Amino acid sequence: MSPPVSQVVVVGGTHGNEMSGVCLAKHWLQDPSELRRKSFTADILLANPIAVERCVRYIDRDLNRSFSHELLSASASESDSYEVKRAREIYQKYGPKQSSLNFVIDLHNTTSNMGTTILLFKGDNFALHLANYLKTKCVDPSFPCHILLIDIPEQGHVHLQSMGKHSISLELGPQPQGVVRTDVLARMKVLVNSSLDFLDLFNQGTEFPSFEAEVHQVLHKADFPRGADGEIQAFIHSELQFSHSRQRSANIIWWAIPEKELFFRNSQNAGTAWDMELNYTVDIL
Ligand SMILES: [Zn+2]
Repeated sequence: MSPPVSQVVVVGGTHGNEMSGVCLAKHWLQDPSELRRKSFTADILLANPIAVERCVRYIDRDLNRSFSHELLSASASESDSYEVKRAREIYQKYGPKQSSLNFVIDLHNTTSNMGTTILLFKGDNFALHLANYLKTKCVDPSFPCHILLIDIPEQGHVHLQSMGKHSISLELGPQPQGVVRTDVLARMKVLVNSSLDFLDLFNQGTEFPSFEAEVHQVLHKADFPRGADGEIQAFIHSELQFSHSRQRSANIIWWAIPEKELFFRNSQNAGTAWDMELNYTVDIL
């Protein structure tokens, strides 16, 4: 009888300039022995090889926004972008969800100081158990673990990880794009190995007790303050830049020239964290 989790895929290079996943995927493609466990051997996938070769996030469009039902099910055409073609190839190999229970681990870096952020879909309690396992087993004050829930209805899923019945993305930072930080790379390697350990323990019948955990989710996205011409008029406040701070209630998040501090008022009075990713606006978590 096959184990409950028989198909596991570890994905690097979904974004071609996020180097921890790129380096690990290249290494494991050469020598996958580290991905072997008693109950399964994880597959390794370099998701966007042309973007990796050019050291860019993507070629035509973001691969990690190309796994929508609409794009995957549309009939193929010559004019399809590289990433849409690639998403269909990957989905054919590892989807659909009805096949054997599978688990996707997608590896990312961020320019933001998010430490170890584990992204999973709200309601994926199996992935939440894995995230909690990482949080307790892989303690590292330099890159503390945060759990971030992706709260989108299933029909709106566009991320690569959504092709798995269960999945996590590991988002490690801060690390500039196209740059390898060895400590971040080593941290990513430990986290992937521990994730595989968890899945193997589960396959062998280990029971994981119930737990309480702090989780984050995006409540609001704030664009930079802009003038009538669309030009950015204020910047991330120095007290927040490069920090992963949590504050309550009203917060100063912008600094403008001439010197002026601007507030963001948090109407839900929730704890807030800040994800100032180079590729995004400011996410208020
Ligand atoms: Zn990424």
